[in-house]
Amino acid sequence: MRCNWCQKTIIRNLTMPEIVWPFHLDEERCQACSELLTPIVAGCPTCRKAGSSIPCQDCLRWHKIYPTYNFQHEAFFQYDDAFHQWIHQYKFLGDYRLRKTFVVELRHFFKKEKFDVICAIPLSKERYLKRGFNQVEGILEAAAIKIEKLLDKKVNTVPQAEKNRSERLITPQPFEVVATEQQITGKRILLVDDVYTTGRTLFHAAEALNAYHPREIRTLSLAR
Ligand SMILES: [Zn+2]
Ligand SMILES: [Zn+2]
Repeated sequence: MRCNWCQKTIIRNLTMPEIVWPFHLDEERCQACSELLTPIVAGCPTCRKAGSSIPCQDCLRWHKIYPTYNFQHEAFFQYDDAFHQWIHQYKFLGDYRLRKTFVVELRHFFKKEKFDVICAIPLSKERYLKRGFNQVEGILEAAAIKIEKLLDKKVNTVPQAEKNRSERLITPQPFEVVATEQQITGKRILLVDDVYTTGRTLFHAAEALNAYHPREIRTLSLAR
């Protein structure tokens, strides 16, 4: 079997369940690749930013803007050089094989946490056509997570990665709700993005959905 990131062969004996049920063998990350990543073990209690055990400055600022939104974010890894390399290869070079790199983390998360609706942050039509895939849908589908489309990205904004911090924060609302009220009202919703940087994207998405009174909106990203 091969590592789903570096594609090098992984040499180990198969377990008995793997011999009987050999369908998840392409979901393994090798030891060397796993050791490159830095798992988030604590961090800010609301956004998981490293180095903060109380709500961080970012979260306090968001709370002032959205005082009634009970924000709760989860992330698996720190956004460091290793994660940057991974996302560069997957998202910007378009190496679609890498959609399986975090299958194990996602399966583990969704075993513990239950939601009525799971929604990937959408791309604009232009970006989707250019990239050929939605990178967030890719990672969720690789882990066999059922997703629903609640939002459309109506404008093709400059990618967040190409802006500085203050430019990101003043981005206007880019999302519109395309779901029915029944899909949102009273539901436990999880919004998923690849990276949480300033939080601007996820807060915009949550703001659009909150107008339809979901029971709860939580958010998840691979990296923070
Ligand atoms: Zn590897
Ligand atoms: Zn925070």
